[in-house]
Amino acid sequence: MYNFNHHRPGSLADAASTIAGAEDGKLLAGGMTLIATLKQRLASPSDLVDLGAIAELKGICEDGNAIVIGAMTTHAAVANDATVKTKIPALATLAEGIGDAQVRNCGTIGGSIANNDPAADYPAALVGLGATVRTNKREIAADGFFTGMFETALAEDEIITAVSFPVPEKAGYAKFANPASRYAIVGVMAANGPAGLRVAVTGAGPCVFRLSDAESALSGGFSANAVANVGVAADGLNSDLHASAEYRAHLVGVMLRRAVAAAG
Ligand SMILES: Cc1cc2nc3c(=O)[nH]c(=O)nc-3n(C[C@H](O)[C@H](O)[C@H](O)COP(=O)(O)OP(=O)(O)OC[C@H]3O[C@@H](n4cnc5c(N)ncnc54)[C@H](O)[C@@H]3O)c2cc1C
Repeated sequence: MYNFNHHRPGSLADAASTIAGAEDGKLLAGGMTLIATLKQRLASPSDLVDLGAIAELKGICEDGNAIVIGAMTTHAAVANDATVKTKIPALATLAEGIGDAQVRNCGTIGGSIANNDPAADYPAALVGLGATVRTNKREIAADGFFTGMFETALAEDEIITAVSFPVPEKAGYAKFANPASRYAIVGVMAANGPAGLRVAVTGAGPCVFRLSDAESALSGGFSANAVANVGVAADGLNSDLHASAEYRAHLVGVMLRRAVAAAG
């Protein structure tokens, strides 16, 4: 049987004090991962702190040369937002390619990055665009946020409030999707902007990583030709029923060239 206390605070301050005071509490966003985890009895929290009624965690706004997306903003909202489509079209493309309509309408950017699934799309966006994660306690650069498979720099009771993306001059995202779930077998974000020239790869390894060889190659000119011969070794890449490490290594090169070409 499920046996937890359900809380639905109306403010970030209330959510923060509730999760901090819970014996073994869990934050609930859209439930796309967490509800399945509970149903499989892989977690049994004492308290669920539902963030769904906190207006300050939702929405998208411009902040100088950055776009700030609230943690409880759904993938569908990001995909359809006029400002995101204009300023960072690669991010809208990425959000549009997540899962199916139900997942895009319930899943959130905060839940996705807190979960840090190795096949999730958003980690490539955050690292590739040089984003900053805002929490109720601090700001964390994307490079230091994703620390390992399903692991992040977040403390147990820390709440992501928003993600700030500097607007790049160029950015492109390409993904080879699992045909069933749409999770990334391999996804690559390539960008050039205020955060520098960055290439981030998701799906291929246990955690998102930057591809420094590609970044060096692109510094001479941002074109698919510049990265024609860039690749990765299969050593250390994921290997499962969906794709071998060797196939993922091959896909990194292909998705890299598509991402750079998509950036224009
Ligand atoms: C069928 C299916 C297909 C999918 N396909 C894709 C895909 O193609 N690409 C992709 O990237 N993802 C995919 N996903 C994942 C999806 O995009 C969700 O973002 C992800 O499941 C997290 O869901 P959620 O936002 O509802 O968070 P929840 O499930 O509610 O929470 C997930 C975790 O994050 C924590 N959390 C939530 N919000 C916060 C916060 N603000 N601060 C701190 N911690 C928080 C929770 O405590 C929990 O541990 C898929 C999921 C499903 C079920």
